[in-house]
Amino acid sequence: MKWIRLIPLLLVSLVACQSRQTTQPTYIAFTGATILDGTGASPLTDGVLLIRQGRIVAVGTRDQVTIPENTQVRNVSGKTIIPGLINAHGHVGDVKGIEPGHYSAENVQDNLAIYARYGITTVVSLGGDKEESVALRAVRDTTSHGRARLYIAGEVINGNTPQEAVAVVDQNHTMGVDFMKIRVDDNVGTSPKMPEDVYRAVIARSHELGYKIATHMYYLDDAKKLLEAGTDLLAHSVRDLPVDDEFIRLIKERNIGYCPTLTRELSTFVYEDTAAFFTDPFFTKAYDLATISPLKDPAYQQKIQNNPVAQTYKRQLPVAMQNLKTLAAQGVPIVFGTDSGMPARFMGYFEHLEMQMMAEAGLTPQQIIESATKNAAAYMGLKEIGTLTPGYRADFLVLDADPLADIANIRKIADIYIGGTEVEAK
Ligand SMILES: [Zn+2]
Repeated sequence: MKWIRLIPLLLVSLVACQSRQTTQPTYIAFTGATILDGTGASPLTDGVLLIRQGRIVAVGTRDQVTIPENTQVRNVSGKTIIPGLINAHGHVGDVKGIEPGHYSAENVQDNLAIYARYGITTVVSLGGDKEESVALRAVRDTTSHGRARLYIAGEVINGNTPQEAVAVVDQNHTMGVDFMKIRVDDNVGTSPKMPEDVYRAVIARSHELGYKIATHMYYLDDAKKLLEAGTDLLAHSVRDLPVDDEFIRLIKERNIGYCPTLTRELSTFVYEDTAAFFTDPFFTKAYDLATISPLKDPAYQQKIQNNPVAQTYKRQLPVAMQNLKTLAAQGVPIVFGTDSGMPARFMGYFEHLEMQMMAEAGLTPQQIIESATKNAAAYMGLKEIGTLTPGYRADFLVLDADPLADIANIRKIADIYIGGTEVEAK
């Protein structure tokens, strides 16, 4: 008897399970926040960001966006939503703590997880990328939970002759890279510089194969020649001289991105002393005392003080900062990058330090955010990221304070989403 009575109950609970399944929310709406969509448009107040299956469905004010029935609503009133930040010049996989030489698939993923936890949702690694990272690239990898999306440049192209260097381009192509990268620099007179016929051949071959090519450079004269030769990104600041009209004309005419990497300069000399940021809780949340202790060693600090190369970079940093200000004012596209992921260039933290230095150079919060969102995606050719646009990937940050009021507010991260999935703070 008892069993017979149970049957209707079982049926009811089965039906309940089924109906629960069908009413499960397929959409998530973030409501009430101020939304900066990254395009440069005015902020939306009382905005709605509607996402579904990792992609953005709609962005607008409450009146503009219809919230479908099967929606999980998350009230984020009082917060600001911005696109996930893109580092267009980083490196991944080699460094653990401050030590190089740890390249592995696991370390690539660990590095990308550090970036992600600081709100850097995409990293373009401009060189030093090995085979292990190919399968982890943003274009192939669909399970990027908890770590930044990755694009790679493979081996930094070098060679004494055009033939030698072009062979490296072909090797990168065979490996399956997203970008090419060369260095045209003598490291303040300490090493030979790639000759013009070599870099011209490398740029031509890269374009022939359909790649954009980024160039590490230092001197104004080289930067002009590289623009003329067809480089697709100046991957550092011009640091020897103030930029002139000819340079501005060239870079604007060709519509090429300029990636200042001010923290790269800082990293060359800042450890001549105990770096102020070592006690910043935003730094120590990811980097512990044991990691940084070699950088606090007085003998090491003395070495930096006595290193003429480091001291040259230090002396030239104000030139780089002034050039950034001049170029931004001229409307040259500034593409956000740090050159972090090298020893003692701390992934994640350095991106926030870079934004602070860009502000010190005279850029507005709006200009800085655009450089790390829209510009980074557009000038690196990254698809479906960079702005909060319907159809794009749901990579975004929920901030506790308004970054337009003070760029330092971009550190006040409440939540980070990559492909619509929340990045767990560790
Ligand atoms: Zn670099």
